[in-house]
Amino acid sequence: MAKMFERLRDLVLGGKCEDSNGTAPALVIKVRCAHCGEEIATRVEKAHALQEQYEADSEGEEPEITGYLLQKELLGEKCQELVRLTMHFDPCRRLVKHEISGGELVEVVESE
Ligand SMILES: [Zn+2]
Repeated sequence: MAKMFERLRDLVLGGKCEDSNGTAPALVIKVRCAHCGEEIATRVEKAHALQEQYEADSEGEEPEITGYLLQKELLGEKCQELVRLTMHFDPCRRLVKHEISGGELVEVVESE
């Protein structure tokens, strides 16, 4: 139960994630469509869009959050080619790596 509270506190206050990077509530992600070159921007709320990733449950212990995953499909206005983006975040919600198909990642900006 104490651990549960700790986790809640971590979520609310950022806990051990003191680095200000990654603590903004939202991200603005900009990609460029490989098909037509259009830049497509999207805003995601971390609290809703990021899926928690857990360590494999061992010995009935509470699983630890090992990071977050964001999967996004973006569609511009100039063509019908989807840009598929997968982003991996560490437990402090900092971007670790990304995979993209149908386009390229232009920028990711932390947003209020
Ligand atoms: Zn396009």
